Amino acid sequence: MFKKILIANRGEVAVRIHRTCREMGIATVAVHSEADATALHVKLATESVCIGGPQPRDSYLNIPALLSAAEVTDAEAIHPGYGFLAENAKFAEITQKLGFTFIGPNPEHIRQMGDKIEAIRAAQTFGLPTIPGSGGALSEIEEALSVAEKIGYPVIVKAAAGGGGRGMKVAHSAPALRTALHVAMNEAGAAFGDNRVYLEKFLEKPRHIEVQVLCDSHGNVSILGERDCSLQRRHQKIIEETPSPAVSDEQRQTLFAKVAAACKSMGYLGAGTFEFLYENGQFYFIEMNTRLQVEHPVTEMVTGIDVVAEQIRVAAGEKLRHTLPVFTPRGHSIECRINAEDPQTFIPSPGKVTEYFAPGGLGVRVDSALYPGYSVPPYYDATVAKLIVHGATREEAVTRLKRALEEFVIGGIKTNIPLHRKLVATQAFMRGEYTIHSLEAFLAENRL
Ligand code: ADP
Repeated sequence: MFKKILIANRGEVAVRIHRTCREMGIATVAVHSEADATALHVKLATESVCIGGPQPRDSYLNIPALLSAAEVTDAEAIHPGYGFLAENAKFAEITQKLGFTFIGPNPEHIRQMGDKIEAIRAAQTFGLPTIPGSGGALSEIEEALSVAEKIGYPVIVKAAAGGGGRGMKVAHSAPALRTALHVAMNEAGAAFGDNRVYLEKFLEKPRHIEVQVLCDSHGNVSILGERDCSLQRRHQKIIEETPSPAVSDEQRQTLFAKVAAACKSMGYLGAGTFEFLYENGQFYFIEMNTRLQVEHPVTEMVTGIDVVAEQIRVAAGEKLRHTLPVFTPRGHSIECRINAEDPQTFIPSPGKVTEYFAPGGLGVRVDSALYPGYSVPPYYDATVAKLIVHGATREEAVTRLKRALEEFVIGGIKTNIPLHRKLVATQAFMRGEYTIHSLEAFLAENRL
């Protein structure tokens, strides 16, 4: 097993990874930007290295600085967390070439799944159902119009290199598609340096259902259940839960068998997530994330498996500790992403945290890097905490979530806690009846 791991990330996820490393007796190296010298992940780590200026490109995306930090501290492995370089195949490749272990899948799998067009093609060859669409990159408007004519409007234009909910445009008619294609190609080129776009049928009331997998290099594949991440704003998840209140056990098992077969055909290594849209009893593959996900704690709560520990073990060449093909969830778990932003306008709200009180009690977990007196810098992701609850039933988990949200105090900055409080009290949420469009509809109807 590794003696020392460099965590190439910051904030809540860096703290999360550090905690598991310490439980495994592994020393940690924190890297930080000049803006993060007093961050919790730096305070907790065994040692730390400043890798550059506040802007992500100068620090957390700065590959030479990260690798130099690993070199000078004698770290043996690098955990990328999520965001930043977690899905950068080149980073994974260079890390390995320099003799460090990259805690993640093979660079070829990161590359293949990072290109959504390639990912859809691969999924089709593994027998996973996909959404009707162009099946490949579009450059001519005539081609886009003819695909749309065939599958019917509305359609969605998506960037092959897209991520984080960016680079998607919906079109309800041919004139709108002309504009959408043009705008999407320009935006994708500017944002991702790759202007390839493709087209899919826009599903009008699907749920987002994803499957968590863990694979080792000894041929073991474990399916850790699904997560329902339908509550989204601008295609970004806000609340996630497991099991999904919408999927029957039979549908679940059929899907899991297909995903397990796909992992075996790929020879996948490590943690990964297959994302699907689910409508009228059908699952449609949309993409695969080749990394740890923000919402992994809900899976940990119902399986009792530390996903980060398993990532580290399989990266070290060990077998998965738990090799059941499919885990049966114990109870129900829900996560709320707490963002430092105005709950009404969604404008980011960095600044000094004057008060901080995290909820506790049975079945409550808070993953956060906040502490009283800490200043949230303006340069990074707005998610500053995750509130995760576990209950024997969904009803118990919802009740516990409401209670925990009542207790949560973050003073000095604005957060979306008021939005969560309102949202979890709606009949739709309490009944588990919602789609990917429900949150936007709720926001249009409610002032906070
Ligand atoms: P990203 O990589 O940017 O997260 P995804 O392909 O995972 O993009 O899609 C993110 C979200 O966008 C989905 O969860 C869903 O809400 C919405 N979405 C994507 N494709 C479609 C589609 N064909 N129809 C309706 N909504 C879609």
